Parts: sequence; structure tokens; C-alpha cells
Amino acid sequence: MANLHFFYGTMGAAKSTKLIQDRYNFIQNGTRVYVIKPKTDRHPEPKITTRIGLECPAAIHEKLNVDKLREIPDFAISAVVLVDEVQFFSAPDIDALVTLADTYKLRVFCYGLMVDVNEKLFPASKHLIEVGAKLHELPVSCQMPGCQNLANHHLRYDSNGTVIRNGDAICVDDGRVKYMSVCRTCYDKALGHHR
Ligand SMILES: [Zn+2]
Repeated sequence: MANLHFFYGTMGAAKSTKLIQDRYNFIQNGTRVYVIKPKTDRHPEPKITTRIGLECPAAIHEKLNVDKLREIPDFAISAVVLVDEVQFFSAPDIDALVTLADTYKLRVFCYGLMVDVNEKLFPASKHLIEVGAKLHELPVSCQMPGCQNLANHHLRYDSNGTVIRNGDAICVDDGRVKYMSVCRTCYDKALGHHR
């Protein structure tokens, strides 16, 4: 169980930065690392980039299949698997990661979002909790001016700066929408929620 980890946080919590740093540390001690990212329209290049300029190569996979992964030479020689944006995979993909950890004794580190803009768990993130992945929160402050709470929610704004309600869980970031990582109090206030 300890071979499966989930580093989670909101947008801006430096999840990909953490992945790149972890990869670097493994490589430094001679450990072979295989980095996976999901297939998305937003970032089609086979690499992970961060807003502070760090980047590393990554293999793009639409689905995770244990047998197919094990046929990949770079994968076969790796002892550690790092998965970026894990929330965009499916629950069966998480089961594949469990098999890699438990049956093939690989160390699997996942990085991603826990909840979407509608305050719902992503299916992959939910399944990581269900299967007992070791959870590690990457804390970041609420982005609302003057707030000192930690962020655990997301607000989505349109190009006019108006908060979008009841939108899709996953929305392509095409420049027309903007996300803000906020605390629950600021989320409720912005949406006019009364619990
Ligand atoms: Zn706040």
C-alpha cells in the first residue's frame, strides 16, 4: 500500500514542480523513472512544463494498461512511475497503477487535483482514496485578496470576470476562462452558497 502515493492540491499548488523535483532526486540516486501524462488537447507535447520554467520529458498515455506498459522498453527498466495530472485518468486506470504497485512492486507517485470546480471528487482521485493510496496534501494559500486560509476549491471565471456556475467539471483552458484556487469560505461567498 505504501508504494502508491497521491500528492494532491489545487491549481497553483506546484504539483508538477513537485513531480519534476522528485524525478530529479530519483535520477540522482540512480533510480530509473518513467513519467506519464494523460492525453489532453491543452498540452499535446511529450513533456511536463511548469509556470516557473522547469520541465521534464513525459510519455503520453490515453489509458493505462499494465501489459502494454510493460512492453515499453523505458518502462520495463524503471522502478518508479510518476503520473502527472492523474485526475484526467479513469478509475480503471487507477486499478492498473495499483497492479503496478502491488504485483510488480513499482513505486507509483501520482500528482493531481482532488476536486473539480463543482466541489466533486474526480473519479480517478476518488478511486485513489478508495484503494488506500497514501495521501499527501500540497498546501497553497487562497488567492482571494486578503484571505489567509488554505485553498481547497476552484472558482471559474469567464473573460468578463464573472464567476461561472454549474459548468463542466473539466473545461479546456483556451484563454476564455480563468481559474482561481480559493478556500471553502471564499468559494461559498462567490457562488452565494448557503450550506
Ligand atoms: Zn479564502
